[in-house]
Amino acid sequence: MTDANKNVVLERHEFILKGAQDEREYRGLELTNGIRVLLVSDPTTDKSAAALDVNVGHLMDPWELPGLAHFCEHMLFLGTAKYPSENEYFKFLTAHAGRANANTATDHTNYFFEVKPDQLPGALDRFVQFFLSPQFTESATEREVCAVDSEHSNNLNNDAWRFLQVHRSCAKPGHDYGKFGTGNKKTLLEDARKQGIEPRDALLQFHKKWYSSNIMTCCIIGKESLDVLESYLGTFEFAAIDNKKLERQIWKEFPFGPEQLGKRIDVVPIKDTRQISISFPFPDLTGEFLSQPEHYISHLIGHEGHGSLLSELKRLGWVVSLQSGYVVQAAGFGNFQVGIELSTEGLEHVDEIIQLMFNYIGMMQSSGPKQWVHEELAELRAVTFRFKDKEQPMAMASCVAARLQRIPFKHVLSSPHLLTNYEPVRIKELLSMLIPSNMKIQVVSQKFKGQEGNTNEPVYGTEIKVTRISSETMQKYEEALKTSHHALHLPEKNQYIATKFDQKPRELVKSDHPRLINDDEWSRVWFKQDDEYKMPKQETKLALTTPIVSQSPRMTLLSRLWLRCLSDSLAEESYSAKVAGLNYELESSFFGVQMRVSGYAEKQALFSKHLTKRLFNFKIDQTRFDVLFDSLKRDLTNHAFSQPYVLSQHYTELLVVDKEWSKQQLLAVCESVKLEDVQRFGKEMLQAFHLELLVYGNSTEKETIQLSKDLIDILKSAAPSSRPLFRNEHILRREIQLNNGDEYIYRHLQTTHDVGCVQVTYQIGVQNTYDNAVIGLIKNLITEPAFDTLRTKESLGYIVWTRTHFNCGTVALQILVQGPKSVDHVLERIEAFLESVRKEIVEMPQEEFENRVSGLIAQLEEKPKTLSCRFKKFWDEIECRQYNFTRIEEDVELLKTIKKEDVIALFDKKIRKGAAERRKLAVIVHGKSEDRAAVNEIIKKHLEDGKKKKEVLYLDQLRQFLPLYGQPIAAINLKPIGIDPCLGQ
Ligand SMILES: [Zn+2]
Repeated sequence: MTDANKNVVLERHEFILKGAQDEREYRGLELTNGIRVLLVSDPTTDKSAAALDVNVGHLMDPWELPGLAHFCEHMLFLGTAKYPSENEYFKFLTAHAGRANANTATDHTNYFFEVKPDQLPGALDRFVQFFLSPQFTESATEREVCAVDSEHSNNLNNDAWRFLQVHRSCAKPGHDYGKFGTGNKKTLLEDARKQGIEPRDALLQFHKKWYSSNIMTCCIIGKESLDVLESYLGTFEFAAIDNKKLERQIWKEFPFGPEQLGKRIDVVPIKDTRQISISFPFPDLTGEFLSQPEHYISHLIGHEGHGSLLSELKRLGWVVSLQSGYVVQAAGFGNFQVGIELSTEGLEHVDEIIQLMFNYIGMMQSSGPKQWVHEELAELRAVTFRFKDKEQPMAMASCVAARLQRIPFKHVLSSPHLLTNYEPVRIKELLSMLIPSNMKIQVVSQKFKGQEGNTNEPVYGTEIKVTRISSETMQKYEEALKTSHHALHLPEKNQYIATKFDQKPRELVKSDHPRLINDDEWSRVWFKQDDEYKMPKQETKLALTTPIVSQSPRMTLLSRLWLRCLSDSLAEESYSAKVAGLNYELESSFFGVQMRVSGYAEKQALFSKHLTKRLFNFKIDQTRFDVLFDSLKRDLTNHAFSQPYVLSQHYTELLVVDKEWSKQQLLAVCESVKLEDVQRFGKEMLQAFHLELLVYGNSTEKETIQLSKDLIDILKSAAPSSRPLFRNEHILRREIQLNNGDEYIYRHLQTTHDVGCVQVTYQIGVQNTYDNAVIGLIKNLITEPAFDTLRTKESLGYIVWTRTHFNCGTVALQILVQGPKSVDHVLERIEAFLESVRKEIVEMPQEEFENRVSGLIAQLEEKPKTLSCRFKKFWDEIECRQYNFTRIEEDVELLKTIKKEDVIALFDKKIRKGAAERRKLAVIVHGKSEDRAAVNEIIKKHLEDGKKKKEVLYLDQLRQFLPLYGQPIAAINLKPIGIDPCLGQ
């Protein structure tokens, strides 16, 4: 520690509660200017990170300038006195395997970044300038308003944002909670100027008023020792941030008083959804982290087991799902909410549903808090904290900095987990707030469209109708609170809580990746014992290959519906396991179905076998079937209202993948599907199958072999006449190969969003180490310039992506822009950008180029932080059937030999305009207001032009005449799965 540093630290807090497995070191500091800092020293980390949180958010926006706090967040990134260049910060970070972001919430704003560990000092130096000397230049101000505006346009037709603003707009007039937080060009520029306010002056004023060190908190995570990390605070002048001695703002008044409560708000959604959310104003419980009384309450109301509110609502056929939870909305007030997704039938029974909810709450009130429920929750939380996975550094820095605003140093890591105190009196007190007169209901359905008395929420234009709930209805709710219901009762004690945490006997064979321990005509089994994370955890995943699932749209629909029914019928019996940290997921894939079980190892094999048995042995009644089928149909229909970038990805897939069913195709076959078909489907699926299994974690080879045998036996006994797959029944998916020089455009005219989107794909070819690595490097080199040029300088859109796309054994480079500008113009600007970025790469000094390569290598070599993340990497290799477990090492070896000329050579061969082997596909999703006639003119012109730009007029066009790419050869020499078609069994 330097002498200079002694003067910046006012107080040290060395004792910080941490998990038993946690080897990082922590130190809390309060600096002389009031910033509270948590330092985290982790010599093993391969990323360093930092976050700074300021206790100012959009509730502090001046009423005449909605969105100012958010705008200020955007502007801080764009140049400081010490580093005036607008993209200096992002440029530095991307050059060193880093990234950054920020967000503005109601009462705080959080800035965070991560970077290669040896570059932490340089990143901190640039970061701290935001709070020492931001520039807020004139030119950036005007442009960045457009970025905020474009961000708002993206949210404009998004139901989640719309519902939130409806909730806010119903607050007491004049309460800060009712403000519009994002802001847009109208609020920040046009309206401001009309009122004689210059936005830049307002920004400066806002920053001057609120960005005070005494309401800032910070977290820094690095490889360095705590003393060295501490010295950075002095070197980079954290203590020089201005202390304006601000008082922390706390809202003493709730946003909803008697006048706003007892009301029902009907809301018309964009998507076809039906839901009720019932909210109760609740106190700010941040300070009660040792007892978390709200957790007790939401655990019971949101329970999904036998006797729960959800269980009964499902039996009645009224709901799809239910959640309950508590949030602190801003310092001083919170909200307890029960959210229910309704079935069609359920929409007709809103009152009865609410009565049932009050029956359940009434039961909790009259039976009083139960200590055993609290103890069970406390035990589960304690185990979670003991064996907590390591967090990703940037996410951790951001969370901890935010938490430090209100939580003492000692508890800053443990506060979300440990429940040390039981406070029955407080639970009772809070339960007594869950009463009809303290409630507000929001009911969402398209059937309210155009009903008499509707008005529009001013910011998003959402159609709503606010009515006071009649006294008769309120009376019914009150009575429900005092009435018991025969079907409702508290849950049983949880049998799934893990008790054994020892490491299993160590394997003699050591391997860095999964080993094949069995391969026959029925199954392929992979296993690896974990010796890296040393947690009592495990992951088990099985892929059941049954080609019938993708045979036809009807079969695909049936498999999805079957999975939905299955998951639903398993939900009740497996809920306790889920609460106890034993999770499962079921998903359908092109090849069949997959099941993943994760969590504590002790009861995992048992649970996997139990679930496999249930795959083909579950009952579903007609009522429930109707609800689930209806919800699947709605999901399929609602896809059309998705964000343009979601649609562009969907259409790209439909255009280039050899066999892919569209949502409309699946909808078209819905009529032909009945309950009996779904019940039969499970067994039909098993007529011919192959099982691939991976177990990774605290397990042994012997246990895994036994598990695979048991699973095969279970599957065979479910369908006694089943047989192994023939080899030619299982075919990998392939992608359509455009011709060299092709440039196709597919257009979709959507009718929901004002913004449009352009997604350009440059096909590179079948994956191979060289192309994968060089394209990865090109992607890395163009990401920051794409953001800087297309988003910041040209304001083409708020969403700008570049990515390498691995699909069906091929690799491609993709660039995506979503925004308000004409999409044909954006398409041209992407082309111009490619030319300018090529020049940038050509002119890049050798040293910088080498830095970029080593930055990318560091990124690739980053260790997965958790056993689950490591598992996912292994599984990806198995799922694509390339089994290249040393992929990263190969990429790294190759990158070490790459020269700039190699990068330019590939760029000039496959990406640059006019390149000999360029294969370009642009999917354009037009904004809803784009002029149709003009679009048709463009199409006509392109068609007449002939060769150069070809408009794809229908989705199936390309597959009519283009060839398919092959698949890369698997890295491990294995015989294909199943049996030889000419040999029989
Ligand atoms: Zn933003």
